Amino acid sequence: MASEQGSSQMDATLGRRIEPRDFVETFNPRALRKETYLLYEIRWTSSKIWRNSNRNTTHHAEVNFIEKHTSEGRIRPRTSCCITWFLSWSPCWECARVIKEFLSQHPKVKLVINAARLFHHTDPQNRQGLRDLVASGVTIKIMGMSEYCYCWEQFVNYLPGEEAFWPRYTPDPMMMFALELQCIILNLPPCLKISNSHQNQPAFFNLTLQNCHYEAFYLLALGLLTVFCRN
Ligand SMILES: [Zn+2]
Repeated sequence: MASEQGSSQMDATLGRRIEPRDFVETFNPRALRKETYLLYEIRWTSSKIWRNSNRNTTHHAEVNFIEKHTSEGRIRPRTSCCITWFLSWSPCWECARVIKEFLSQHPKVKLVINAARLFHHTDPQNRQGLRDLVASGVTIKIMGMSEYCYCWEQFVNYLPGEEAFWPRYTPDPMMMFALELQCIILNLPPCLKISNSHQNQPAFFNLTLQNCHYEAFYLLALGLLTVFCRN
């Protein structure tokens, strides 16, 4: 049922919520904005949940998260918790290396990454970085409708009457990014081509599938090939 009070009635996280326009623009899968937003929640075994957000500064948002929470003692080497990230861009290879190091020092932390877009997805180092994260036990997914709706509900200071987030974007870029992520994890060549003729204009997406893609997807459909998205 529609609320008359927007997000303000829901919880005490109002001061930590981001503005609707920031969410809609920075998480748009078709808009290749430079800023990176990280919305996150940390769930401890005590059922306590902490939600907040940060952005890229002189460091990338992922590094800012790790530095902040380890330096403030919120996450210690023996801390057992589940961290869920909603990132407007997937981690670059340098962040992947920092995340991997963080996880090796915090073995009781489970990390789930939901990304709106794949960052420079044709760069071999970025592709390897994502594979390394998966091999380290990280779950990586492309944000779909349910993730967008969840973020809107939990992280956005939406106005009364704007409780329903969807539909705001067309689903095809999400599906193409999801397909490309499978290619990365399976160590296949890129199949997704993105072009945008002018900055701040929506990008265009094209799929170029080779025989190796068809073969891998056919085996996946038959259940004869496993994609190691850890859960
Ligand atoms: Zn990075």
